[in-house]
Amino acid sequence: TRARAVDVPALVEQARAGTPRAVARLLSLVDHQHPALPEVMAALAPLAGRAHVVGLTGPPGVGKSTTTNALVRELRERGRSVAVLAVDPSSPFSGGALLGDRIRMQDATGDPGVFIRSLASRGHLGGLSVSTPQAIRVLDAAGFDMVLVETVGVGQSEVEIAGLADTTLVLLAPGAGDGIQAAKAGILEIGDVFVVNKADRDGADATVRDLRHMIQMGDRSAPGLWRPPVVRASAMNGDGVVEVLAGIGDHLAWLARGGELHRRRVARARDEVEALTVARLRARMGDLGDGGRLDELAAAVVSGRGDPYAAAEEMLRRLSGAEGEESSDV
Ligand code: GDP
Repeated sequence: TRARAVDVPALVEQARAGTPRAVARLLSLVDHQHPALPEVMAALAPLAGRAHVVGLTGPPGVGKSTTTNALVRELRERGRSVAVLAVDPSSPFSGGALLGDRIRMQDATGDPGVFIRSLASRGHLGGLSVSTPQAIRVLDAAGFDMVLVETVGVGQSEVEIAGLADTTLVLLAPGAGDGIQAAKAGILEIGDVFVVNKADRDGADATVRDLRHMIQMGDRSAPGLWRPPVVRASAMNGDGVVEVLAGIGDHLAWLARGGELHRRRVARARDEVEALTVARLRARMGDLGDGGRLDELAAAVVSGRGDPYAAAEEMLRRLSGAEGEESSDV
Protein backbone atom coordinates (compact mmCIF):
# COMPACT_ATOMS: atom_id res chain seq x y z
CA THR A 1 0.00 0.00 0.00
CA ARG A 2 1.25 3.45 -0.83
CA ALA A 3 1.61 5.85 2.05
CA ARG A 4 -0.93 8.65 2.10
CA ALA A 5 0.59 12.03 1.28
CA VAL A 6 1.10 14.24 4.32
CA ASP A 7 1.16 18.02 4.47
CA VAL A 8 3.89 18.13 7.09
CA PRO A 9 4.17 21.91 7.62
CA ALA A 10 0.41 22.25 8.12
CA LEU A 11 0.26 19.28 10.44
CA VAL A 12 3.17 20.52 12.55
CA GLU A 13 1.62 23.98 12.76
CA GLN A 14 -1.70 22.52 13.96
CA ALA A 15 0.01 20.22 16.46
CA ARG A 16 1.99 23.15 17.79
CA ALA A 17 -1.25 25.02 18.32
CA GLY A 18 -2.40 22.08 20.40
CA THR A 19 -4.98 20.63 18.01
CA PRO A 20 -5.51 17.12 19.41
CA ARG A 21 -6.32 15.61 16.04
CA ALA A 22 -3.03 16.85 14.58
CA VAL A 23 -1.08 15.48 17.56
CA ALA A 24 -2.84 12.15 17.17
CA ARG A 25 -2.05 12.09 13.46
CA LEU A 26 1.64 12.77 14.10
CA LEU A 27 1.73 9.96 16.64
CA SER A 28 0.18 7.55 14.20
CA LEU A 29 2.85 8.51 11.66
CA VAL A 30 5.36 7.53 14.36
CA ASP A 31 3.48 4.31 15.09
CA HIS A 32 3.67 3.30 11.44
CA GLN A 33 7.12 4.72 10.79
CA HIS A 34 5.64 6.68 7.91
CA PRO A 35 8.05 7.84 5.16
CA ALA A 36 7.26 11.48 6.03
CA LEU A 37 8.82 11.07 9.50
CA PRO A 38 12.25 12.50 8.68
CA GLU A 39 10.54 15.69 7.52
CA VAL A 40 8.29 15.69 10.60
CA MET A 41 11.22 15.26 12.97
CA ALA A 42 13.19 18.00 11.24
CA ALA A 43 10.25 20.39 11.62
CA LEU A 44 9.73 19.46 15.28
CA ALA A 45 13.38 19.61 16.35
CA PRO A 46 13.49 23.34 17.15
CA LEU A 47 10.21 23.13 19.10
CA ALA A 48 11.21 20.35 21.47
CA GLY A 49 13.05 20.39 24.79
CA ARG A 50 10.61 22.25 27.01
CA ALA A 51 8.53 19.45 28.50
CA HIS A 52 9.52 17.63 31.66
CA VAL A 53 9.65 13.99 30.58
CA VAL A 54 8.67 11.75 33.46
CA GLY A 55 8.84 7.97 33.26
CA LEU A 56 6.59 5.87 35.44
CA THR A 57 7.22 2.19 35.88
CA GLY A 58 6.52 -0.72 38.18
CA PRO A 59 5.12 -4.23 38.13
CA PRO A 60 1.63 -4.90 36.73
CA GLY A 61 -1.12 -4.17 39.23
CA VAL A 62 0.94 -1.85 41.42
CA GLY A 63 -1.25 1.10 40.49
CA LYS A 64 0.45 2.80 37.55
CA SER A 65 -2.78 3.68 35.75
CA THR A 66 -4.41 4.87 38.95
CA THR A 67 -1.37 6.97 39.86
CA THR A 68 -1.17 8.42 36.37
CA ASN A 69 -4.82 9.42 36.53
CA ALA A 70 -4.32 11.01 39.94
CA LEU A 71 -1.25 12.92 38.74
CA VAL A 72 -3.11 14.14 35.66
CA ARG A 73 -6.01 15.35 37.79
CA GLU A 74 -3.71 17.23 40.15
CA LEU A 75 -1.67 18.76 37.33
CA ARG A 76 -4.84 19.95 35.59
CA GLU A 77 -6.01 21.56 38.81
CA ARG A 78 -2.76 23.50 38.77
CA GLY A 79 -3.32 24.51 35.17
CA ARG A 80 -0.48 22.38 33.84
CA SER A 81 -0.98 20.45 30.61
CA VAL A 82 0.04 16.82 30.47
CA ALA A 83 0.41 14.08 27.87
CA VAL A 84 0.45 10.41 28.78
CA LEU A 85 2.20 7.88 26.62
CA ALA A 86 1.65 4.24 27.55
CA VAL A 87 4.28 1.87 26.29
CA ASP A 88 4.14 -1.88 26.64
CA PRO A 89 7.35 -3.41 25.33
CA SER A 90 6.15 -6.93 26.00
CA SER A 91 3.28 -6.79 23.58
CA PRO A 92 2.59 -4.91 20.38
CA PHE A 93 -1.14 -4.91 21.05
CA SER A 94 -2.10 -4.80 24.70
CA GLY A 95 -1.28 -1.12 25.18
CA GLY A 96 -4.26 -0.11 23.12
CA ALA A 97 -6.67 -2.41 24.89
CA LEU A 98 -5.34 -1.37 28.28
CA LEU A 99 -5.77 2.27 27.49
CA GLY A 100 -9.07 2.14 25.68
CA ASP A 101 -11.09 3.21 28.68
CA ARG A 102 -8.86 6.08 29.58
CA ILE A 103 -8.75 7.40 26.05
CA ARG A 104 -12.53 7.34 25.98
CA MET A 105 -12.51 9.15 29.30
CA GLN A 106 -10.22 11.82 27.88
CA ASP A 107 -12.44 12.22 24.83
CA ALA A 108 -15.42 12.61 27.12
CA THR A 109 -13.86 15.44 29.09
CA GLY A 110 -12.83 17.25 25.92
CA ASP A 111 -9.97 18.88 27.83
CA PRO A 112 -7.24 19.89 25.35
CA GLY A 113 -4.77 20.08 28.26
CA VAL A 114 -4.71 16.30 28.53
CA PHE A 115 -3.63 13.88 25.86
CA ILE A 116 -3.53 10.11 26.37
CA ARG A 117 -2.20 7.65 23.89
CA SER A 118 -0.54 4.25 23.73
CA LEU A 119 2.32 3.31 21.50
CA ALA A 120 2.52 0.02 19.65
CA SER A 121 5.72 -1.40 18.24
CA ARG A 122 3.95 -2.78 15.13
CA GLY A 123 6.92 -4.96 14.43
CA HIS A 124 8.80 -2.32 12.47
CA LEU A 125 12.58 -2.31 12.57
CA GLY A 126 13.92 -0.73 15.71
CA GLY A 127 10.57 -1.14 17.44
CA LEU A 128 9.83 0.98 20.44
CA SER A 129 13.43 2.09 20.91
CA VAL A 130 12.96 4.11 17.72
CA SER A 131 9.34 5.17 18.07
CA THR A 132 9.18 6.07 21.77
CA PRO A 133 11.63 8.98 21.66
CA GLN A 134 9.91 10.22 18.51
CA ALA A 135 6.52 10.13 20.20
CA ILE A 136 7.94 11.99 23.19
CA ARG A 137 9.30 14.65 20.84
CA VAL A 138 5.91 15.07 19.19
CA LEU A 139 4.21 15.62 22.56
CA ASP A 140 6.98 17.89 23.79
CA ALA A 141 6.81 20.00 20.63
CA ALA A 142 3.02 20.15 20.93
CA GLY A 143 3.60 22.16 24.08
CA PHE A 144 2.61 19.83 26.91
CA ASP A 145 4.23 20.86 30.18
CA MET A 146 4.75 17.27 31.22
CA VAL A 147 5.03 14.09 29.20
CA LEU A 148 4.35 11.04 31.36
CA VAL A 149 5.68 7.82 29.88
CA GLU A 150 4.05 4.83 31.52
CA THR A 151 5.91 1.58 30.95
CA VAL A 152 5.01 -1.92 32.01
CA GLY A 153 7.75 -3.99 33.57
CA VAL A 154 11.05 -2.98 35.00
CA GLY A 155 14.63 -3.75 34.15
CA GLN A 156 14.28 -6.19 31.34
CA SER A 157 12.25 -4.03 28.97
CA GLU A 158 13.26 -3.41 25.44
CA VAL A 159 12.72 0.22 26.21
CA GLU A 160 14.72 1.16 29.25
CA ILE A 161 12.54 3.72 30.91
CA ALA A 162 15.35 5.43 32.75
CA GLY A 163 17.03 6.16 29.46
CA LEU A 164 13.88 7.83 28.14
CA ALA A 165 12.96 10.19 30.90
CA ASP A 166 14.37 13.19 32.72
CA THR A 167 12.86 11.83 35.92
CA THR A 168 11.96 8.22 36.61
CA LEU A 169 9.21 7.30 39.02
CA VAL A 170 9.25 3.75 40.36
CA LEU A 171 6.09 2.35 41.92
CA LEU A 172 6.12 -0.47 44.43
CA ALA A 173 3.43 -2.01 46.55
CA PRO A 174 3.76 -2.88 50.24
CA GLY A 175 4.89 -6.37 50.98
CA ALA A 176 7.66 -8.30 52.60
CA GLY A 177 10.63 -8.79 50.35
CA ASP A 178 9.65 -5.99 48.00
CA GLY A 179 12.85 -4.20 48.77
CA ILE A 180 14.97 -7.16 47.98
CA GLN A 181 13.15 -7.71 44.74
CA ALA A 182 13.71 -4.09 43.90
CA ALA A 183 17.42 -4.49 44.46
CA LYS A 184 17.49 -7.57 42.27
CA ALA A 185 15.62 -5.96 39.43
CA GLY A 186 18.02 -3.01 39.44
CA ILE A 187 15.18 -0.70 40.38
CA LEU A 188 17.20 1.08 43.03
CA GLU A 189 19.55 2.48 40.42
CA ILE A 190 16.91 3.78 38.04
CA GLY A 191 14.42 5.40 40.41
CA ASP A 192 14.58 9.17 40.97
CA VAL A 193 11.40 9.12 43.03
CA PHE A 194 10.04 5.98 44.69
CA VAL A 195 6.38 5.60 45.42
CA VAL A 196 5.08 2.97 47.79
CA ASN A 197 1.52 2.86 46.53
CA LYS A 198 -1.44 1.15 48.22
CA ALA A 199 -0.23 2.62 51.49
CA ASP A 200 -3.74 2.00 52.78
CA ARG A 201 -2.64 -1.62 53.05
CA ASP A 202 -0.54 -3.29 55.73
CA GLY A 203 3.19 -3.27 55.41
CA ALA A 204 3.62 0.08 53.66
CA ASP A 205 5.72 1.57 56.46
CA ALA A 206 8.07 -1.40 56.46
CA THR A 207 8.50 -1.17 52.70
CA VAL A 208 9.20 2.56 52.91
CA ARG A 209 11.76 1.93 55.67
CA ASP A 210 13.36 -0.89 53.65
CA LEU A 211 13.69 1.24 50.57
CA ARG A 212 15.10 4.23 52.42
CA HIS A 213 17.62 1.96 54.07
CA MET A 214 18.70 0.40 50.81
CA ILE A 215 19.01 3.77 49.11
CA GLN A 216 21.21 4.94 51.97
CA MET A 217 23.35 1.82 51.77
CA GLY A 218 23.74 2.15 48.03
CA ASP A 219 26.24 4.32 46.24
CA ARG A 220 23.78 7.16 45.80
CA SER A 221 24.42 8.75 49.17
CA ALA A 222 27.59 10.59 48.15
CA PRO A 223 27.42 14.39 48.50
CA GLY A 224 25.97 16.18 45.49
CA LEU A 225 24.14 13.13 44.24
CA TRP A 226 20.38 13.05 44.09
CA ARG A 227 18.87 11.30 47.09
CA PRO A 228 15.65 9.72 45.80
CA PRO A 229 12.67 10.39 48.06
CA VAL A 230 10.43 7.49 49.02
CA VAL A 231 6.81 8.62 49.07
CA ARG A 232 3.86 6.80 50.63
CA ALA A 233 0.80 7.03 48.45
CA SER A 234 -2.65 5.70 48.02
CA ALA A 235 -3.38 6.73 44.48
CA MET A 236 -6.86 5.28 44.68
CA ASN A 237 -7.76 7.87 47.34
CA GLY A 238 -5.52 10.57 45.97
CA ASP A 239 -3.26 10.45 49.03
CA GLY A 240 0.39 11.25 48.48
CA VAL A 241 -0.11 12.64 45.00
CA VAL A 242 0.95 16.14 46.02
CA GLU A 243 4.09 14.69 47.62
CA VAL A 244 4.87 12.69 44.48
CA LEU A 245 4.60 15.83 42.37
CA ALA A 246 6.81 17.67 44.85
CA GLY A 247 9.43 14.94 44.49
CA ILE A 248 9.24 15.17 40.71
CA GLY A 249 9.59 18.95 40.85
CA ASP A 250 12.54 18.80 43.26
CA HIS A 251 14.27 16.33 41.00
CA LEU A 252 13.82 18.56 37.96
CA ALA A 253 15.28 21.49 39.90
CA TRP A 254 18.25 19.34 40.91
CA LEU A 255 18.73 18.18 37.32
CA ALA A 256 18.72 21.70 35.98
CA ARG A 257 21.06 23.02 38.68
CA GLY A 258 23.93 20.65 38.08
CA GLY A 259 23.79 20.31 34.32
CA GLU A 260 22.53 16.75 34.68
CA LEU A 261 19.39 17.57 32.69
CA HIS A 262 21.46 18.38 29.64
CA ARG A 263 23.64 15.31 30.16
CA ARG A 264 20.61 13.03 30.38
CA ARG A 265 19.08 14.50 27.27
CA VAL A 266 22.30 14.13 25.32
CA ALA A 267 22.49 10.50 26.42
CA ARG A 268 18.88 10.05 25.33
CA ALA A 269 19.51 11.57 21.91
CA ARG A 270 22.59 9.39 21.56
CA ASP A 271 20.53 6.26 22.21
CA GLU A 272 17.93 7.44 19.74
CA VAL A 273 20.45 8.11 16.97
CA GLU A 274 22.09 4.77 17.64
CA ALA A 275 18.78 2.89 17.52
CA LEU A 276 17.83 4.67 14.32
CA THR A 277 21.20 3.93 12.74
CA VAL A 278 20.96 0.25 13.61
CA ALA A 279 17.36 0.12 12.32
CA ARG A 280 18.40 1.68 9.03
CA LEU A 281 21.38 -0.64 8.70
CA ARG A 282 19.09 -3.60 9.27
CA ALA A 283 16.67 -2.31 6.68
CA ARG A 284 19.45 -2.00 4.11
CA MET A 285 20.71 -5.39 5.14
CA GLY A 286 17.22 -6.70 4.35
CA ASP A 287 17.47 -5.16 0.88
CA LEU A 288 20.76 -6.91 0.31
CA GLY A 289 19.36 -10.16 1.64
CA ASP A 290 16.49 -9.90 -0.81
CA GLY A 291 19.00 -9.64 -3.60
CA GLY A 292 20.16 -13.12 -2.66
CA ARG A 293 23.72 -12.19 -1.79
CA LEU A 294 23.30 -12.94 1.92
CA ASP A 295 21.98 -16.40 1.07
CA GLU A 296 24.94 -17.01 -1.26
CA LEU A 297 27.38 -15.96 1.43
CA ALA A 298 25.64 -18.15 3.99
CA ALA A 299 25.78 -21.13 1.64
CA ALA A 300 29.47 -20.45 1.08
CA VAL A 301 30.05 -20.47 4.84
CA VAL A 302 28.29 -23.81 5.19
CA SER A 303 30.22 -25.40 2.31
CA GLY A 304 33.52 -24.13 3.69
CA ARG A 305 34.23 -21.87 0.68
CA GLY A 306 33.81 -18.81 2.81
CA ASP A 307 34.05 -17.86 6.44
CA PRO A 308 31.63 -15.74 8.48
CA TYR A 309 34.10 -12.87 8.99
CA ALA A 310 34.79 -12.52 5.29
CA ALA A 311 31.06 -12.70 4.62
CA ALA A 312 30.36 -10.00 7.21
CA GLU A 313 33.10 -7.84 5.71
CA GLU A 314 31.48 -8.12 2.32
CA MET A 315 28.06 -7.23 3.78
CA LEU A 316 29.59 -4.15 5.42
CA ARG A 317 31.23 -3.11 2.16
CA ARG A 318 27.90 -3.45 0.40
CA LEU A 319 26.09 -1.53 3.14
CA SER A 320 28.55 1.31 2.87
CA GLY A 321 27.60 1.70 -0.75
CA ALA A 322 30.39 -0.20 -2.42
CA GLU A 323 28.04 -2.84 -3.80
CA GLY A 324 28.53 -3.92 -7.34
CA GLU A 325 32.19 -2.94 -7.41
CA GLU A 326 33.48 -6.24 -6.30
CA SER A 327 32.33 -9.66 -5.57
CA SER A 328 34.73 -11.91 -3.77
CA ASP A 329 35.05 -15.29 -5.35
CA VAL A 330 32.79 -17.15 -2.97
P1 GDP B 1 -1.29 -0.96 36.93
O1 GDP B 1 -1.44 -2.32 36.34
O2 GDP B 1 0.04 -0.80 37.56
O3 GDP B 1 -1.62 0.13 35.97
O4 GDP B 1 -2.34 -0.89 38.15
P2 GDP B 1 -3.79 -0.21 38.21
O5 GDP B 1 -3.68 1.26 38.35
O6 GDP B 1 -4.61 -0.73 37.08
O7 GDP B 1 -4.32 -0.77 39.60
C1 GDP B 1 -4.44 -2.15 39.85
C2 GDP B 1 -5.47 -2.36 40.94
O8 GDP B 1 -5.01 -1.78 42.16
C3 GDP B 1 -6.79 -1.70 40.63
O9 GDP B 1 -7.82 -2.56 41.05
C4 GDP B 1 -6.76 -0.43 41.46
O10 GDP B 1 -8.04 -0.01 41.82
C5 GDP B 1 -5.97 -0.88 42.67
N1 GDP B 1 -5.28 0.26 43.32
C6 GDP B 1 -4.64 1.28 42.72
N2 GDP B 1 -4.19 2.14 43.64
C7 GDP B 1 -4.55 1.66 44.84
C8 GDP B 1 -4.35 2.12 46.20
O11 GDP B 1 -3.77 3.16 46.46
N3 GDP B 1 -4.86 1.34 47.17
C9 GDP B 1 -5.51 0.16 46.91
N4 GDP B 1 -5.96 -0.54 47.94
N5 GDP B 1 -5.72 -0.28 45.66
C10 GDP B 1 -5.24 0.45 44.64
